[in-house]
Amino acid sequence: MDIQIQWFPGHMAKAKRQVQDALKLVDVAFELLDARIPVSSSNPMIDQILGQKPRVIILNKSDLADPSITKQWQRALDRPYIKAIAVDTIKGEGLKEVPRVASMLVAEQMAKLAAKGRRPRAIRCMVLGIPNVGKSTFINRLVGRKATKTGDTPGVTKGQQWIRTQGSLELLDTPGILWPKFEDPEVGYKLAVTGAIKEQVFDIYEVSLKLLQWLAEYNPEKLKERYRMNELNPEATKLLWDIGVKRGLLVSGGLVDESKVAQLILKEFREGLLGRYTLDLPPM
Ligand code: GDP
Repeated sequence: MDIQIQWFPGHMAKAKRQVQDALKLVDVAFELLDARIPVSSSNPMIDQILGQKPRVIILNKSDLADPSITKQWQRALDRPYIKAIAVDTIKGEGLKEVPRVASMLVAEQMAKLAAKGRRPRAIRCMVLGIPNVGKSTFINRLVGRKATKTGDTPGVTKGQQWIRTQGSLELLDTPGILWPKFEDPEVGYKLAVTGAIKEQVFDIYEVSLKLLQWLAEYNPEKLKERYRMNELNPEATKLLWDIGVKRGLLVSGGLVDESKVAQLILKEFREGLLGRYTLDLPPM
């Protein structure tokens, strides 16, 4: 599948440098991943960028992912310095865990500082992730109404500020934006179906055909129920056509408006109306 490349080597180097600079100021990184595609929504250089920095992996949009696979992912991602939590930022589910897990990850480090006679201070954090993974929504949610800017801090890029969050963390108000592994066509497909990349840069019809084919194999009953069909045509192009007829998405002459149907399928998939799915599976 063809995806227009919006990140150039220069952009990537700059983004990496910005993130690395900001990381020097923080105790904990919040790496946002899409719970439906924890591999495809990750950055290919993230381990190199973060090293052993304490990291909370936020499996976001978990309302749209298969809950049992999300649990498997949490276990698979667990390391001494990494903990993964499932979050639904829209409903606010799982967010209370964020400050708790962050504190746990830096407890030892903070105790060492205290032993040296340093005064206790808030845990400093930053949010990282690819475009559309939910960074802004997450920051707004975590900050909530009690947001207070903590004033300019030396070392922070101009225009960036620390904000105090509900669980008494200090968060950089600007997230670090990372690039996905867009050169892999399978990754491109998953980013497209989940809405991580703009519709102008991929073939909506091709993507929705591939999705339809997969759904028809993986969970035919759900498709039948949603589109009120007794049987599913085994050919994806015909199945898409049938859905168009069912939904009355026609152009003059009684032909199906295939691009409208393709858009409908993608929209309903992304809203979770076709079920909750995880497209990247954890290693066994
Ligand atoms: P950013 O580009 O990473 O800052 O992403 P945004 O915060 O702008 O979010 C991208 C889209 O994802 C928006 O339409 C959000 O409403 C949606 N979104 C964010 N978090 C969640 C979530 O937990 N569940 C669902 N279903 N949608 C979410």
